[in-house]
Amino acid sequence: MTKNAKLSIIIPSYNEQDNIPRTFHTIKEILDNACIPFELIFVDDGSTDLTYPRICQLSTEYPEIKGLSFSRNFGKEAAIFAGLEAASGASCIVMDCDLQHPAPLLPDMYRLWAEGYEIVEGIKSSRGRENPLHTMCANCFYRLISRAVGIDMSKASDFKLMDRKVVDALLLMPERAPFFRALSSWVGFKTTTIPFDVQERSIGSSKWSVWSLTKYAIQNITSFSGIPMQFVTLMGWGMLIASLALGIQSLYKYFSGMALEGFTTVILLQLIIGSVLMISLGIIGHYISKIYDEIKARPRYIISKRCGC
Ligand code: UDP
Ligand code: MG
Repeated sequence: MTKNAKLSIIIPSYNEQDNIPRTFHTIKEILDNACIPFELIFVDDGSTDLTYPRICQLSTEYPEIKGLSFSRNFGKEAAIFAGLEAASGASCIVMDCDLQHPAPLLPDMYRLWAEGYEIVEGIKSSRGRENPLHTMCANCFYRLISRAVGIDMSKASDFKLMDRKVVDALLLMPERAPFFRALSSWVGFKTTTIPFDVQERSIGSSKWSVWSLTKYAIQNITSFSGIPMQFVTLMGWGMLIASLALGIQSLYKYFSGMALEGFTTVILLQLIIGSVLMISLGIIGHYISKIYDEIKARPRYIISKRCGC
């Protein structure tokens, strides 16, 4: 790696019209003071507000800015990958548009990269203000995903610097629904971490509802792990053990001359088996639908406009 090589900063942006100028000027001031050459790629993820016009307007004044706009909302992961594809820097940093990822850390991350680290991973030393139910669900999700990836991801974030080698390795992944946070750990490479406190969002609001977070968690767990399918096997074994126990109890009752009261048991068993079968089919069906999505091989995103490129 060369000292003073260009740094690409990728910022997925969805309905962030008021954050665009503020984020750009904050980053520019910090990087100019540190004498780090950079380009800033805003990826407008199908915003319905003035996000893209603001990006274009800024790009006419500042040549460091590139803007891409999706034809519709494809999601943050797609925006990250589009930004990585458009980046020309020797290293790339992905960060949020709302400055919840602290920009003052950028020169430190760049310095660690210049020292030879290929991934500088921002890890959350605190999660910021958040409701306790959200924290509990997030912990549960990260425990599952850490097991799937085989790396502790409990403090992982999307705020990370990657060397060009890492970016090229990520761009080679053909999957339709990539999970950036886990994939960028899964690829390996020489990694170091840098702790940060999640900042308060000062303008706008979070784009995540409980429903979209649940969908995001299911999508990413199943795209990284086959463990849910093993639940099907587990449930099967559970039912087998329960039916053996019931069989032994029935035989015991039969031989000790007690009448077998059967009707309720039969109905209950039918309901339990029916539910277990339907849940199992649902889990398997989910994986089949993912295979179907992969086989269709549609693009991860569609770019409708570009500016400053
Ligand atoms: N984002 C995006 N597409 C989406 C949702 C969010 O590109 O569909 C961007 C958003 O503009 C921000 C980043 O992803 O730059 C993080 O989003 P947000 O702040 O809403 O998430 P939170 O910080 O609450 O996890
Ligand atoms: Mg945010």
